[in-house]
Amino acid sequence: MEQKKNKFLAALYEKNFQAAEQIYIDIVKHAEIKSEFSENTLKLLSQIQAIFKRFKPVLLKHCPGINEYNNHLKNLISNTTKQSCADILHIDFLSWETKLGLDSCQKDLLYKTAMNFQLTSGCSNYCRRCNEWALPGVRSHFSHKAVLKILKHMADQGNDEISLYGASDPLDWEQNGKSIEDIIAYCKTLPFEYSLLTKVPKGKEELLKKILKNDANLSVSITAKNKARIKKIERDFGNPISFQHDLDELLIPAGLDEDFATIKPSITDGYGTEITPDGAFIIIPTFTSALYPFGHKKIRITSETNFFPIKKTGRDALPVDYFKPLKGYDLNKTQRFLTRLLDVQIESIILDNGTEELTPPGMRSLKEYLSIFEEKARLQREKITSSVMRRLKKQFLSNISFKNLSQKTRILYIKKISRHLNLCKKENCLSSKLSAASFFLESIFIYAQKNEAKIKIMRFLLKDEIALAFNIYRKPVKLIADRPLEELLIDPDIDSFGIFRFYVFCLLNKSNDSTILEFIKTYPSFYDPVADIFVQS
Ligand code: SF4
Repeated sequence: MEQKKNKFLAALYEKNFQAAEQIYIDIVKHAEIKSEFSENTLKLLSQIQAIFKRFKPVLLKHCPGINEYNNHLKNLISNTTKQSCADILHIDFLSWETKLGLDSCQKDLLYKTAMNFQLTSGCSNYCRRCNEWALPGVRSHFSHKAVLKILKHMADQGNDEISLYGASDPLDWEQNGKSIEDIIAYCKTLPFEYSLLTKVPKGKEELLKKILKNDANLSVSITAKNKARIKKIERDFGNPISFQHDLDELLIPAGLDEDFATIKPSITDGYGTEITPDGAFIIIPTFTSALYPFGHKKIRITSETNFFPIKKTGRDALPVDYFKPLKGYDLNKTQRFLTRLLDVQIESIILDNGTEELTPPGMRSLKEYLSIFEEKARLQREKITSSVMRRLKKQFLSNISFKNLSQKTRILYIKKISRHLNLCKKENCLSSKLSAASFFLESIFIYAQKNEAKIKIMRFLLKDEIALAFNIYRKPVKLIADRPLEELLIDPDIDSFGIFRFYVFCLLNKSNDSTILEFIKTYPSFYDPVADIFVQS
């Protein structure tokens, strides 16, 4: 369904309304023959409907017949909603785990790297800007026993922190008189930290007071919609409640406020897995846009999954450079780095326009990364060499001598020293910059061969920046004419991020491919995770 959503959008952006109509009819026909929908499919259908609404005037102008299909889809979704909300299911552990189809190693890694545990499918808060596109109204819960089992498995795998949140409100969860209060009581017996975020659904005020009295580790998300109710609870409770934010509306215009035209920061602040009644997913943060209206990519975990990214959440996730191959566990439970970027990372490179608004403080943008190879940064690095050497010595040799270090640690220590010294030398610094640029451009080149619809979406989202770059670097042509790409990238008088973006856009437009291919061939590169740098292969 995600592919269909992307094709529908791409056709609309291209103003190819006939193609858009045909894709929409296919979507409706596909939905028609389904006897039930997964939570994720329903979320994607909601996104498709939001897209339809945004483009409705032009769609109806060019394809008036499409309205009939839209009404039909609306009815299908509304019937499913009525039926599921009237008949709330409790999902038992065995059926859920059997449906996942994972072997024991995959299950261990899923529980080990879990960051979000969504107890319920559907949410009774109906927030307009819900980036999770939570289904309106509660439809199913994990059974009480299933919740306890999953929590226990996480603890057994050494998972040290879990957030009881997802596309649902944890206070909605219930079964036979049990509530989130019972789940919190169980969490307190396990050797990990738990946290929950709630908007306090209407009717759950007393439950909130109870769990606050029990010292639950919770935060309340405040908007204009629940502010008065929560402030009253706070007064009754007599102690301050922890608020995650206190705004009239959620900060990022996601969910039903998604405009399908702009690129906004990511809402997701972590790498790891998510457990939901609908299955389990690997979560990779993305910018929030028409491409990923969730602000993250959900990769469904199946029996084919053979890599689980290391869990990094909150502050720990900020230093993860999204443009480097990810570190995770393979099916021997060994930590290793991927050698290539995931498609979703390549998409983030393409969409990262280098503005501060897109990257929260502490997170590094690609523009900032490329700036470490500039002359000013190199000279600063050179100046602090002795303090870097002292820091590394303290880190590696504080209570052991060099000759007693393990072989692996010795290599790491030496590589860290060499990395710093290499990046202090002008020649090495420039060669590292070319290796990094070559790695990114090659990744985009390969990606562009097989992702036509997504490329069209990104071209639309970046249209103003593309026009500007083509204006600067093509007119006057002499600015870059006849000069090899490597020379432009290291020319101190040329903005290297600007020229890099120009060549990214050439790849999206399939122009200048031969210049770029020549560059990639001349500077083949890979990521060295020990030295944490891109190097020539
Ligand atoms: S409470 Fe959270 S999950 Fe529920 S609708 Fe609001 S933002 Fe979405």
